[in-house]
Amino acid sequence: MKRPSPEYNEYLREWRRTRLDREAERARVKKWRDENPSKERERTLRNSRLRKQLKRQTSEAYTVAQLVETYGSLCYLCGEEIDLTAPRKTGTPGWERGLHVDHLVSITEGGPDNLENARPSHGKCNLKKGRRST
Ligand SMILES: [Zn+2]
Repeated sequence: MKRPSPEYNEYLREWRRTRLDREAERARVKKWRDENPSKERERTLRNSRLRKQLKRQTSEAYTVAQLVETYGSLCYLCGEEIDLTAPRKTGTPGWERGLHVDHLVSITEGGPDNLENARPSHGKCNLKKGRRST
């Protein structure tokens, strides 16, 4: 299994370190919004543009083919072969052995959806992991 680069670990540390700053910023923005209702529309438009910009910066598009090419077709959670012909949609017969994209730092914790953070896994293993960490 390929280990994340030191740069990537640094990025994650920085992200965690600035978490409180970001929360304070959110509170400040909310206060401003309550005090300036007329500027709300303008702000929304600006933020929408910023979000799109940020998305381009942090989300690298990758394909399943690239994922398998980079990390192989073994499930990184249990080490067994993933059935790449099995359906990927949860609930479809055989999906448990099919490919799911797992993330080292989950998307819900702010992890980026890029090739470096993504790993191939079985549908079933990915789901089990998700339950464990919640
Ligand atoms: Zn597995």
